[in-house]
Amino acid sequence: MRKKTIPARASSGQARADTCRAMRKNLNVLLSFFFLSAVFLLSGCCHSANTRDTVFQTSTLEALMEGGYEGTFTFGELREHGDTGLGTFQDLDGEMVAIDGQFFQVRADGSVHTVMDSATTPFAVMTFFEAEKTFLLDSPMDRGEFEQYLNNLLPAENVIYTFRIEGDFSYIKTRSVPKQTKPYPPLKDVIRKQTIFEFRDSKGSIAGFRFPDVMKGLNSTGYHFHFLTEDRRAGGHVLEYTIKNAVISVDTDSAFFLLLPESKI
Ligand SMILES: [Zn+2]
Repeated sequence: MRKKTIPARASSGQARADTCRAMRKNLNVLLSFFFLSAVFLLSGCCHSANTRDTVFQTSTLEALMEGGYEGTFTFGELREHGDTGLGTFQDLDGEMVAIDGQFFQVRADGSVHTVMDSATTPFAVMTFFEAEKTFLLDSPMDRGEFEQYLNNLLPAENVIYTFRIEGDFSYIKTRSVPKQTKPYPPLKDVIRKQTIFEFRDSKGSIAGFRFPDVMKGLNSTGYHFHFLTEDRRAGGHVLEYTIKNAVISVDTDSAFFLLLPESKI
């Protein structure tokens, strides 16, 4: 286990906005400890951070939003915690998609690369995917309809669902983000410079999650999908789509292990 530290952040203690941000961050740290405690409690009986029913995450969405793009965890280490997931890279250099134990990097120029074990990530979410339920979709749906369809199939609110979807998309829009240099800007500023990709009549794979609302700040709540085309030559963070037909496999996890970032934001 790597040493864990809580990200330090300079505080003026003056501006009310800063106070609010600090309070929100403290809440996030408390939540982190809550989830860590939950995992440690579970590890006392029959689970550990490495069990196949645990979702493993490095850093938090909140840290990423504030510019925490310093890679702190290697992909060699990350593969010990799952074979399916998503995330990003050192310096926010693109979108990461993990499928069948292989890591892919979708850069802002649209190119896709396999990832060296020595590369690092500031933020990633992984699990060992075991399909507990499989659904066949055979009627076209846009993003809103598809998410409602999944909500109806998967009503439990406070669990993490992991998805592996093999689908035919009449349309799918994705994005990637450009590599950043220090001092790192906040994520909202980078997203203004994101590159959009649009694919029509594209076959491909999605790895993704639905995180519950109670995990706000730790990860993006709701559905978060990353896409790779069937030939693994394009993809990205999914924004919009119309899915024609699909095989949807779902894994359910209620244990979560969070590794806090070692870097300063
Ligand atoms: Zn994403």
